[in-house]
This record gives sequence, C-alpha cells and structure tokens, in this order.
Amino acid sequence: MTDLDTVLFANLLSPCTLVEWARMTRQVRGITLPYDFSRSGISMVHIRLNKTMFRLEAKEEIWGTVLHEMLHGYLDLTTGWASLRVPHHGGLFERSCEAMVRRPGLKGFEVRHVV
Ligand SMILES: [Zn+2]
Repeated sequence: MTDLDTVLFANLLSPCTLVEWARMTRQVRGITLPYDFSRSGISMVHIRLNKTMFRLEAKEEIWGTVLHEMLHGYLDLTTGWASLRVPHHGGLFERSCEAMVRRPGLKGFEVRHVV
C-alpha cells in the first residue's frame, strides 16, 4: 500500500491512514471510514479490509479492493467535509477511478463495478 500511495496518491495517505485487516462478514470486502476530524475536515481515515479475501479471492480482486478503499480515503482526506455529503460512488469517484487506472499504464487494469 505504501508503494501504491507513492505512485497514485503522492504519499498523502500513509501518514493519515489506519489500515486494518479484519475478519468481516463475507459480503463486505472493505470499508473506509473517517477516523479523526479537524476544523477543515477529515484528518485521518480508517481502512478496514476483509482478510477473508486472502482465502476466497484472486489477487487481482484483492488489489482492486485495496485501491478502491485507498481512493475513498484519498477523497475523504482531500475534499474536506464534501465527501460526507456526496453519494458513496458519485461522479468524482468514477472520474478518479478512470484516472487511477490510467496512471500506472498496466495492461489489463480496468475500472469495473462490482456488486
Ligand atoms: Zn466504495
């Protein structure tokens, strides 16, 4: 995640993110929640990832989930309070996914919706 933070988020996430691999219900792959607040907005986020994925999911699915939650964290941290008011996966999230996929220039890396 540190390398992904460097390449995709200019090291913004690492000092402001608490990452936890936890046992969660099978339907939930991950969740990102505000963890600490300052006057200007969210100052720290908590990314919880389901460690059940290690047994059940292909590595590409795990990477996709990690990136998905990192993007939530990034938008939470950089949009102030706005991230709490916009729909969970609104237009900004969608555009950011497209940009994030183009950035590393890896073949076969794509944006898709997962239910
Ligand atoms: Zn999401």
